[in-house]
Amino acid sequence: MGISKTEGIVLKHTNLGEADKILTLLTRNKGKIKAIAKGCRKPKSSLLASSEIFTFSEFVLFKGTNFFHITQAETRESFYNIRKDLLRLSYGVFFTEMADFVSDEDIPSERLFLLLANTLYYLSIGEIPLGILSLAYQLKVMDISGFRPNTAKCVSCGDTSDQYEKFSISLGGVLCKKCHGYDAKAMKVSSGTIEFIKILLNTQISRLNNLKIDNTIFNELDRIIREFVRDHLEKEFRTLEFLDEIKETQS
Ligand SMILES: [Zn+2]
Repeated sequence: MGISKTEGIVLKHTNLGEADKILTLLTRNKGKIKAIAKGCRKPKSSLLASSEIFTFSEFVLFKGTNFFHITQAETRESFYNIRKDLLRLSYGVFFTEMADFVSDEDIPSERLFLLLANTLYYLSIGEIPLGILSLAYQLKVMDISGFRPNTAKCVSCGDTSDQYEKFSISLGGVLCKKCHGYDAKAMKVSSGTIEFIKILLNTQISRLNNLKIDNTIFNELDRIIREFVRDHLEKEFRTLEFLDEIKETQS
């Protein structure tokens, strides 16, 4: 019990009473927690800025019976730019929703925390094409969650010939020619797409700014990663469909 300090990112918030909020925080060392920010909706509250979605702060917390209570907060990054643009805002909502879905209360994952913090940072400064940032983020979240796509060998027979034409979502990776029949729903995959899955998994977010992916490969990656996330997390992220609609109106 008692007082503790942690860095945290606001994944979502709901209003409580007249002036309070319950924040869902992804913290650096306590996993996902729910914390009450008392009075944070008052214009002069010292917790006002730190209670906004995406904001990265250092929190001083007191553990109550059911919730943590925020006694102090110091904003490190508000990622304000994310909120200025509908497309970025929607990506930001998707990234926090996904982190919320795969994280557990009180089970720390510093990797997930740092990944989200980095991804929001690059989303706010806009140096990396948003589509690429999103694909890399999704693959890395899946990896952290124990679902790393297997691109090194056939997921059925272990063949390492490097001649793969199909990707099995349910088996979690590439299939060699002999094993196509093991999954009737396996998706067509090009060697370029397989290469980019490896690159996106193995490259730090900060180093994605020079990456160029041609449209055909990007679309194939997008289809495979989307199915992969949906199948293994058993979750449909509505924000992704909303993102598709915004992209259509902007193109
Ligand atoms: Zn095989």
